[in-house]
Amino acid sequence: MARKSKRNNPYPPQNNQSMYVGIFLLIVLLGTFVVLQFTSQPGEKNLSYTQFLAQVTNGNVALVRIEGQVIQGEFKNRVENATRFVTILPLMDEELLPLLKQAGVEIIGEKVKDQSGWSLTWMIVGGLLFVGFLLFVMRGAQAGDSSRAFTFSKSRARLHRENTNKIRFSDVAGCEEAKQDLQEVVEFLKRPEKFNAIGARIPKGVLLVGSPGTGKTLLAKAVAGEARVPFFSVSGSEFVEMFVGVGAARVRDLFSEARKHAPCIVFIDELDAVGRSRGAGLGGSHDEREQTLNQILVEMDGFDSSEGLIILAATNRPDILDPALLRPGRFDRQVVVDKPDVKAREAILKIHTRKVPLAEDVDLSIIARGTPGFTGADLENLVNEAALNAARNNRKKVTMEDLEFAKDKVSLGPERRSLVLSEEDKWMTAYHEAGHAILGHILPLNDPVHKVTIIPRGQALGITYHLPEVEKRSIVKEEAIQNIIMAMGGRAAEELKFGKDYISSGASSDIDHVTRFVRTMVCEWGMSDILGPVRYGETEGPVFLGKDLVTRKNFSEKIHELIDEEVQKIITHCYEEALKLLKKHEKKLDLLAKTLIEKEVLTGEDLKELLGEAPKKQFPRLELIKKELENPSQA
Ligand code: ADP
Ligand code: MG
Ligand code: ZN
Repeated sequence: MARKSKRNNPYPPQNNQSMYVGIFLLIVLLGTFVVLQFTSQPGEKNLSYTQFLAQVTNGNVALVRIEGQVIQGEFKNRVENATRFVTILPLMDEELLPLLKQAGVEIIGEKVKDQSGWSLTWMIVGGLLFVGFLLFVMRGAQAGDSSRAFTFSKSRARLHRENTNKIRFSDVAGCEEAKQDLQEVVEFLKRPEKFNAIGARIPKGVLLVGSPGTGKTLLAKAVAGEARVPFFSVSGSEFVEMFVGVGAARVRDLFSEARKHAPCIVFIDELDAVGRSRGAGLGGSHDEREQTLNQILVEMDGFDSSEGLIILAATNRPDILDPALLRPGRFDRQVVVDKPDVKAREAILKIHTRKVPLAEDVDLSIIARGTPGFTGADLENLVNEAALNAARNNRKKVTMEDLEFAKDKVSLGPERRSLVLSEEDKWMTAYHEAGHAILGHILPLNDPVHKVTIIPRGQALGITYHLPEVEKRSIVKEEAIQNIIMAMGGRAAEELKFGKDYISSGASSDIDHVTRFVRTMVCEWGMSDILGPVRYGETEGPVFLGKDLVTRKNFSEKIHELIDEEVQKIITHCYEEALKLLKKHEKKLDLLAKTLIEKEVLTGEDLKELLGEAPKKQFPRLELIKKELENPSQA
């Protein structure tokens, strides 16, 4: 499934490197030999303790020297040409001394030699060697002479050769604008002369900006694949090492290597790992990171884009990048890689199901509509989960059911069928979800309910899904209000059926969601009559210490109180509205809850059967306006 390109063609082996490995091995061998020389002398035979006892009983032992657990001694007659032997006393053997005495062996007790003296010497020698090694490595790193420092200062970049990179723009669905922007880079890499001839300045660096999993890495590879040039990829975090100077040396190495392969692409993933604003951020010394960053800047200034070298970088935090990186002549071109919209999601699903046999009932557009907010990586994962599920159930083809299952799993975590709900919990959940579902169904501006379930999944005990018919970029106030009423339907149903004192904590995420939503309505969308179309609170830009965006309060205490009041008023109003509606449709609520207990999962079709067709979405004035505009005379 995963079409991540493999690490084909790593660095070609370096001659210098193997020479050093050879020397290193030689030293180890010599060392071992010397140590062996010290411990066993020629003519000395290693005996097991049992063999030793046998020699004693046979009367072939003249003398023993006992030093702690070690017993050395001399044979009376040679054994296999050895005159002496050594053996180890496994445990204390109390019968040994009497036995030796009886056999008339001369016994010499030795003071246990100060072993620690020896090991201390070795420790000092080892320590010196290690320090020497470190100095050696660091010197190499600082001097940038990569061959001297083994591979420490080697950039860890992976080189993908042009002929093995099979990724093309057609493998990337959606993000049309990004592809268009990058097409220019491809053109340049293919025919640099053309651009150079008319003196067009080609960007040196292009920064891909987008959330994780939106396909930034994939796009970068596709650029290389389209242009048929080599592709060096390295992750920003690989530059950051313990030793000061190593990162910078790696950057140098990367660029010098890349220049040899020009025209080519250098791709720095997770640029923010090295590219954070200097002098900001947590932790002790940033010397290493800053040096690395400086080196990147130096290298970028140091080459001419007519050399055919283009640096692509990716980040999901452009806001924390050091401004120096974004200056002209560096990453002055930004390409935004958006999360896919409904069409792009369908296209991505198509790409990733190319090699998956699909059953006839599969409609990828439905899955695409049900997965707003999913990234390309999520969708790839979804298809994979669906295929796994089909295989688990011994199906030859992936069905719609598999895809739905996978969608839930990816978005909410695995089902927890094994979680045993008490009878009360079950009914509570059934009514709660039925409350959402009914209001979702009967309120015309809500998206149609797609599925209701009381099978626990992730943190949720039950879920009501709805499916937007078209991807929306904006919503109107009445729609927002109906959404809130539906969201309050769960809690309202609990209160209606079980009483005020028996409402449950199961509504917490609804409440959380609604509170945020209404706050946005009031403070950002200007949908409150009292507070008017004013933006309250300001989102601050680049952030200190890499924290998330913070909202600065730019209003008075009095306004603050008004906002809180307004938010509370809207939510309470919607809650009461939900209660009223559910009371009116109590019969349907009971029916739905009962059916949920029986079946656990209900689809949109089931709902239609139980509750009747949902009312059509309406936009009352729009039709009037259109009519008026068409025949102005009648107005
Ligand atoms: P990023 O680098 O933005 O975090 P990746 O490029 O590593 O994301 O995307 C991870 C995987 O998700 C890709 O290997 C690809 O299979 C899939 N993917 C993401 N976006 C797309 C897309 N637009 N079209 C097709 N596949 C995509
Ligand atoms: Mg990536
Ligand atoms: Zn709920």
